[in-house]
Amino acid sequence: MATDVETRYCPICGQPVAEGTYNRFGEWYCSEAHAEQYVTEVRSQKQRQLVNSDTGSGSRQGRHRGGCC
Ligand SMILES: [Zn+2]
Repeated sequence: MATDVETRYCPICGQPVAEGTYNRFGEWYCSEAHAEQYVTEVRSQKQRQLVNSDTGSGSRQGRHRGGCC
C-alpha cells in the first residue's frame, strides 16, 4: 500500500493523472489542453462573479430604498 502517493484526477475529464507534468494552481491535468481549458473556465467564472456582485449590490441598494419607509 503506497500511502504517500496521492492519486490525482484531471478536473476536466476525470482521468487519473500519474505525473504532475501539467500542474496548474496545484491541480493536475492529463494534458496541456485540459490545463488550458481549466484556466480559461476559472477566468470566465471569476468574470461572472464580478458581474454578479455588481448587479447584486445594485439591487440591494434599490431594495433598501424601496423597503425603508
Ligand atoms: Zn483531462
